[in-house]
Amino acid sequence: MTTRPAAAPRIIKEDEKNMEYSKLLGKSLKVFFWDALKVSIKNPSQAYFFLKTAIWQRRASRIRAGWKSRGVNVPPIMVYSITDRCNLNCKGCYNQNLRKSSKEELSSDRMKGIISEAKELGISFIVLAGGEPLVRREILNITGDHPEIIFLIFTNGLLIDKEVLSKLTQQKNVVPIISLEGYEEETDERRGKGVYDVLQRIIGRLKNKKTFFGLSLTVTRSNFDTIINRGFIKKLTLLGCKIFFLPEYTAIRGGTEDWVPTVKQRASIAGIMKSFRSEFSAIFVALPSDEEEFGGCLSAGRGFIHISAEGNLEPCPFAPYSDTNLKDTPLKVALQSKFLKAIRENHEGCMRPRADAPSGSNENGCNPCLSKNYKGG
Ligand code: SF4
Repeated sequence: MTTRPAAAPRIIKEDEKNMEYSKLLGKSLKVFFWDALKVSIKNPSQAYFFLKTAIWQRRASRIRAGWKSRGVNVPPIMVYSITDRCNLNCKGCYNQNLRKSSKEELSSDRMKGIISEAKELGISFIVLAGGEPLVRREILNITGDHPEIIFLIFTNGLLIDKEVLSKLTQQKNVVPIISLEGYEEETDERRGKGVYDVLQRIIGRLKNKKTFFGLSLTVTRSNFDTIINRGFIKKLTLLGCKIFFLPEYTAIRGGTEDWVPTVKQRASIAGIMKSFRSEFSAIFVALPSDEEEFGGCLSAGRGFIHISAEGNLEPCPFAPYSDTNLKDTPLKVALQSKFLKAIRENHEGCMRPRADAPSGSNENGCNPCLSKNYKGG
């Protein structure tokens, strides 16, 4: 009698669970687009655009399901850090710490090719990150070719000049998400003197042009009371902000472990987000808090994949490990990565960092930043 490998039943269970969570994520993205439609109701052309996009999402979801049945796991979201270059030098920047010696970034042609391939595979949501993504200005020519895809550009905002602003206004599928750390004191302390003032002017221009934009507010132990605060959020909604991203600070840089929010602060985030969602006409995404609804960390293709500037297909921006590079490999082939598959199949193991893990990777090679079990400081 043949015996089954001991791990097989758990792997099958994991895969089934991942599929359930993937369906749930698909539903949540639909909700996201309907919410986007609602919050942009005073801007009819933007609202009409989101309505069209919601319809496209259904098609994209069917395309992904088709690939799944053929053995290719296509997540709905792709995070692409198109460059490691940046015009700032912020304190605690994870990218500068993790990717100091980055190799050559992919050419504009290959970047364009990957985005086209992503669309054909049914990826409907692309997060552009960096470094500072707008140092590669050509990206806004590529995004214009794909109105069905929503591009969120996570940017420090300083390179939004007249030309960039005009493209952002024309391309309703491109949503700039600008980083702030709080008011002037908190923002300038981390990003550099004078940054807050410049950003206030840029945000004012985005509002005047009726551009749909968001803000990314990294939650630390010290800025928690400033930014997880209804008065602060209210002011930003009055400035025209429609999406708030609230990622918790991850201590990739040594010596910043005490920036991580406390257990008490982290535990309160979900409830506060609920009250913000009912009070303000805006979208709130709190990470990793919102991921818990999907069984935890969505990396490695459970919900998203990450592509580094040099083209490595990785689990997430915080985990610079890869067994495949997209310079000469089509995305469809790369998505069949054995490394990412192994992470997905061992998702539960990844969610258990050492109890004493201070920050960074645990013994599983995973990052506790997105673990519901990590207790922080
Ligand atoms: S703007 Fe972003 S990528 Fe650039 S230094 Fe600051 S945190 Fe790092």
